[in-house]
Amino acid sequence: MMAFIGLGSNLQQPKQQVLKALQSLNNLPETNLLQNSALYQSAALTLPDSAPQNDYINAVARLDTLLSAEQLLIHLQAIENAQGRVRTEKWGARTLDLDILLYGDETVASENLTIPHAQLKFRNFVIHPLFEIAGDINIPGLGSLAQLAEQTGWTGLSKIQMD
Ligand code: ATP
Ligand code: CA
Ligand code: CA
Repeated sequence: MMAFIGLGSNLQQPKQQVLKALQSLNNLPETNLLQNSALYQSAALTLPDSAPQNDYINAVARLDTLLSAEQLLIHLQAIENAQGRVRTEKWGARTLDLDILLYGDETVASENLTIPHAQLKFRNFVIHPLFEIAGDINIPGLGSLAQLAEQTGWTGLSKIQMD
């Protein structure tokens, strides 16, 4: 199955966190990392009364995997934990966040998994990196990614050059 993963980090050398996570994705059982986007920098989403946060580094990865969506989620959480993810408040700063954006063209709505990712359509830091590597796909329930990308601005977001 083709799956797309959204990566994000805004703590403890975010670029390195994202690059390390890409390697870990490629090392998952029955899984290959086929492609990844450039790195992007985005202003943090925060809840109304929470403190400001560092900018995020984001990327999107394309995987080919034989894991089920549920198995994949468990592996992603293990990678997050291995990279020191500490769960505090909702949308709090984190060393690594790995979200399943898409799992083939499947729709999942279970207690612990919503696919396509519920926030995908609202987040430019997901849409633009996804469009970079999968310009021609359709998203279940949303239609053409190209059209979505065209309608989505770049507020707070920039593509970054690697050094
Ligand atoms: P957001 O969902 O707004 O991006 P978040 O990534 O900060 O927020 P987490 O604390 O990382 O949220 O995850 C909370 C729960 O979201 C996880 O325990 C997981 O069960 C659930 N979840 C639902 N759908 C997905 C998905 N597509 N990918 C990853 N986690 C998901
Ligand atoms: Ca997330
Ligand atoms: Ca998450």
